[in-house]
Amino acid sequence: MIHVSFVEPSLDGDPAADDARQKWWRAWRDRAKRARDKYEKSRKTTADPEFDSDVWKDLKEWLLRGPFDGKCGYCESAVTAVDFGDAEHYRPKGAVKRRDGDAWVPVVVGRRPHGGYWWLAYDWSNLFPACAKCNSAHKRENFPTAKKHVRPTARDLARWTSAALDREEEPLLLHPMREGDENDPSRHITFDIDGRAVPIDDSERAKATIETVGLNRDDGPNSLVESRRETMADQVKLCMMAFYQSDCDPAAIDAFMAELQKRKRPYVGAIAVAIERKFDMIRRQLDERRKLDERRAPR
Ligand SMILES: [Zn+2]
Repeated sequence: MIHVSFVEPSLDGDPAADDARQKWWRAWRDRAKRARDKYEKSRKTTADPEFDSDVWKDLKEWLLRGPFDGKCGYCESAVTAVDFGDAEHYRPKGAVKRRDGDAWVPVVVGRRPHGGYWWLAYDWSNLFPACAKCNSAHKRENFPTAKKHVRPTARDLARWTSAALDREEEPLLLHPMREGDENDPSRHITFDIDGRAVPIDDSERAKATIETVGLNRDDGPNSLVESRRETMADQVKLCMMAFYQSDCDPAAIDAFMAELQKRKRPYVGAIAVAIERKFDMIRRQLDERRKLDERRAPR
């Protein structure tokens, strides 16, 4: 999992003069607002109103083509190679549940099951692309938090934006687009040489994220762990070749990583960790050799 930088395109300025990205964003925001209003209205008259999934599907595709580079926001696998990808609702829209052994049980707030964060169903800050394994097979309606889940009344609904909820609930699940060092997945999750995700300093958020979306699933051939491990090994090999071809210039490592980021490879987070680790070892070896040479050199 890596941080994905995304800045909401500006809605200001002359619509006629805007670039395509701003136009798309403005049109999507308007559509999302209409869909939310419609849903809120029908909640008053219908027991089980339906969502308009086309709205979040369109955003998911737009984000996949843009900042997510066709990769899952949780596991960094290339989803578009084999699938359309899911539109992940970070805070579940229809119900909140937790795993209890093999069963799923509702999260209860004030003696009633939490009905989900429906008012965020069309909110961009609650949506990003994920693969079906992370989203549908593992996470489902789970949303682990350090504090109690909020279930607002109709009167104080407007106050519970994503940001306000983050402050109150302290989510344990990491979000790829949240800003701030404390939310950066690379501060919480590292990777071992077997391709497994490992919490940094016993991070509770890392543990919850790895568990909730199954970041260490090793379910047979081409499992996530196996694919990650193989990609790491291949890329470390290529990086070391580039390093030795440059006469052991450390700048070659940075150039290799920059190129990797540009090509948006799956698992770049894990690859960066593996390369750093390998390079640390090489640096120590080079230092030892230099010291040895100095001692041997005739005075
Ligand atoms: Zn995934």
